[in-house]
Amino acid sequence: MVEQTRYTLPEDAIPTSWYNLAADLPKPLPPVLHPGTHQPIGPDDLAPLFPMAVIMQEVSTERFIPIPEEVMAVYRLWRPTPLYRAHRLERELGLPGDVRIFYKYEGVSPAGSHKPNTAVPQAYYAKQEGVKRIATETGAGQWGSALALAGSLFDLEIKVYMVRISYAQKPYRRALMETWGAQCVASPSPDTNAGRTILERDPDSTGSLGIAISEAVEDAATRDDTKYALGSVLNHVLLHQTVIGQEAMQQLEMADAFPDVVIGCVGGGSNFAGISFPFVREKLAGKAIRIVAAEPAACPTLTRGTYAYDFGDTGQLTPLVKMHTLGHTFVPAGIHAGGLRYHGAAPLVSLLLEEGLIEATAIKQRAAFEAATLFARTEGIVPAPEPSHAIRVAIDEANRAKEAGEAKTILFNLCGHGFFDLSAYDSYLSGSMQDYEHPKSEIEAALAGLPTVAD
Ligand SMILES: *Cc1c(COP(=O)(O)O)cnc(C)c1O
Repeated sequence: MVEQTRYTLPEDAIPTSWYNLAADLPKPLPPVLHPGTHQPIGPDDLAPLFPMAVIMQEVSTERFIPIPEEVMAVYRLWRPTPLYRAHRLERELGLPGDVRIFYKYEGVSPAGSHKPNTAVPQAYYAKQEGVKRIATETGAGQWGSALALAGSLFDLEIKVYMVRISYAQKPYRRALMETWGAQCVASPSPDTNAGRTILERDPDSTGSLGIAISEAVEDAATRDDTKYALGSVLNHVLLHQTVIGQEAMQQLEMADAFPDVVIGCVGGGSNFAGISFPFVREKLAGKAIRIVAAEPAACPTLTRGTYAYDFGDTGQLTPLVKMHTLGHTFVPAGIHAGGLRYHGAAPLVSLLLEEGLIEATAIKQRAAFEAATLFARTEGIVPAPEPSHAIRVAIDEANRAKEAGEAKTILFNLCGHGFFDLSAYDSYLSGSMQDYEHPKSEIEAALAGLPTVAD
């Protein structure tokens, strides 16, 4: 009997709603607070920055939110994405037949990652509300690329403020954004007050995500035709990603399987939420299932951060949100998984960790690349550095099950391919890649800078 490798679904099996975990939480999310007054903020406070439809999703507690047909039409360009059984990796690891590894592959989107799942609806709702332009920031360039794609599909102007060091190091990401018609500038840029102020003080500034956020927010707040968009962390972003887990559940049914463990890497938390939230719902309904977040040891937000109110950005412009954080002044080492270098984690993911519904584990980058290389040499796909952390955890789980003689079904999210990250593979293969573990003293120093909020 030939065992199936790729589980594909027809177009009409794309989920018709996003799943909103806020409807099923054991306790509600703490309110988002105004950065100055520390009072809860409401939808009107966010209206200058985000389309109203997006804000209403941010605060919604409806369990299922229908996906508009115009968004479905774009999802059909690459969704449903395939689910694979990792037969060749399993064989390489010498796993018994009852230890099974499945992965959901989001690298088949035009931008090569899961990020278009939210870029597309965000662009659609902006267009619906008469917005002409969206401003955003990008670090490594994955989010900027996804929004550039979405902008081209909905005929919106996209302006991307890209952290200057990445802009210089990753010219192909910029070329990708420009191919889709977006404008991409190095941040700090001369185009905003925030950028000009920094350039006057330090003309050679290499930039930071915090600075780029300040520029994009200023751009959106000072122009009537422009809104801002974020690619992770916020509730509506996580919501949009739940198509991943809903599809995976259908595909696992085709394989007559249900996962014992679900694994995703966490930067801000959106791809992890996407694969896992539909399974969190099952767990809340009584199913035995472990859900594991894989983060880098160099940016250990969930494993070593604190659950507290903090700013979303270094510049202290954003509202305060309660989340697992390493402090808004935390600067992680320059690891290659650029998408995982964020000081905080999504409030929804943070709450799940507090409630003991998920676990977190920290992985060093060489261990992640060792797993990624083994994966590429067995399964063929070259993973992005970020999901390589999830692959490491999946392999470790499988090996432990094998040693313990336990049956185990493992599911992880392969949230992007690594074709724009080959310099990272170069560094690993040449032996020059370093491991970083963030020093305790620096974590403590950054946490000392948290805002004081009366609970
Ligand atoms: C952006 C990105 C991440 C990190 O963001 P999350 O919101 O945590 O998913 C991880 N992997 C890839 C491929 C990304 O593009």
